[in-house]
Amino acid sequence: MTSIVPDPNKLIMICTSDIAGQVRGKAIPKSALAARREIGVGWTPTNVFITSFGPIAPSPWGALGDLILRPDLTTQVDLPAGQHGFSESFVLGDILELDGQRWACCLRGQLRHALAQLATEFGLAVSASFEHEFHYSGVTGQPGLGYSLRSFRRQGEFGDRLIKALAAAGLEPDTFMPEYGPGQYEVTVKHQPALRAADEAVILRELTRATARAMGARASFSPIRDPDAVGNGVHVHFSLQTLTGDPATYDPASEHGMAASAGAFAAGVLKYMPDMLALTASAVTSYLRLTPHRWSAAFNNLGKQDREAGLRICPVFDLRPEQIASQYHFEYRAADAAASPYLVLAALINAGLAGLREQLPPPAPTSADLSNWTTTELEQAGIERLPRSLAQALDRLAASSALTDWFGATFMEAFLRHKRCELELMQSLTPEAQCARYNDAY
Ligand code: GLU
Ligand code: MG
Repeated sequence: MTSIVPDPNKLIMICTSDIAGQVRGKAIPKSALAARREIGVGWTPTNVFITSFGPIAPSPWGALGDLILRPDLTTQVDLPAGQHGFSESFVLGDILELDGQRWACCLRGQLRHALAQLATEFGLAVSASFEHEFHYSGVTGQPGLGYSLRSFRRQGEFGDRLIKALAAAGLEPDTFMPEYGPGQYEVTVKHQPALRAADEAVILRELTRATARAMGARASFSPIRDPDAVGNGVHVHFSLQTLTGDPATYDPASEHGMAASAGAFAAGVLKYMPDMLALTASAVTSYLRLTPHRWSAAFNNLGKQDREAGLRICPVFDLRPEQIASQYHFEYRAADAAASPYLVLAALINAGLAGLREQLPPPAPTSADLSNWTTTELEQAGIERLPRSLAQALDRLAASSALTDWFGATFMEAFLRHKRCELELMQSLTPEAQCARYNDAY
């Protein structure tokens, strides 16, 4: 019998998921990880301006400044080669100022901050799960095979290997399925407390890419493969809990089942959705996906079991009241994988918090094709068409004092500089060429 001796010099990468939605970091020998637990590794502020396409957006900091990227060992992924066909060693972390304060552009820190406020002000926690769609290049995609056993069969061992890798990394796989688009698949994992759910979304994307690569293929999470295709959505399922873990989203006595605080939270998400959209759908091509009749999201409406709503009340599958309370949840559909999961969830929670602070009344679900509604009908229902381009979404974001209050002026300026540079890099390209660039980048 051969025993596997862990190699102390094997590298592990300490990583952060950034504004570009990329996972970047520095590797150290695994034996040094414990010693780096507090002091982390050095990090450079200007890194946050590295776009997914190479050029660095104009940085106010230039070559100046130092930060710490500190690993959170609960996120460690350590998959040995041999068992998975690839080896993968990384750990996610928080970016801190040298005095230990969270750095304004650390997205994990932004999420932690929003969660802490929700807990302190309202005694609430969030659990979430990210549902991911992607394209796998290792199959010959064929129209008409959506959801089919044939499409499932074509991906061969990829799905099995992916699920095994996710489980080995400590995630709880839920489903794997052939999606509607040729070569498109979807993978879901179980709900987790919000910070862990976002960590898992980062881990899931990387392990999906690693598994595809080990099979000589690629997985692309780009928001849309070409202007006529169906998109790759990232749907964020979330619910509220008390700080002791009891479900706090459902109230059987209310009209649509929403507890009062869940109603205010959902109303906040809807109210601020157009302002915060650039944070959750942050690619130029995200806006090809967010159009009517693609089963994505084009309006800031609440839908009940409606797959085109910006926010959806999901179905529950059990009639016992205690089961309903723990299953009842919302799904935010206007997100994609060009955005960091931390930022998506931080935006959602900040918007929900605003709804709670403003004591907004619970929204009424729609059940119609809103693309047929006139502007007056939409206005009367308090609904708007979401921004139609990244440029529009960035203008909305820039004009929102609420968003600056939530995230701070430093983050806001960094985000806008980064994304406006990306916009410029893309502006002379056709939509087809833009899609091709994003397919490579994500
Ligand atoms: N592909 C759709 C999207 O872009 C979602 C389809 C579905 O799972 O409902 O969001
Ligand atoms: Mg899907």
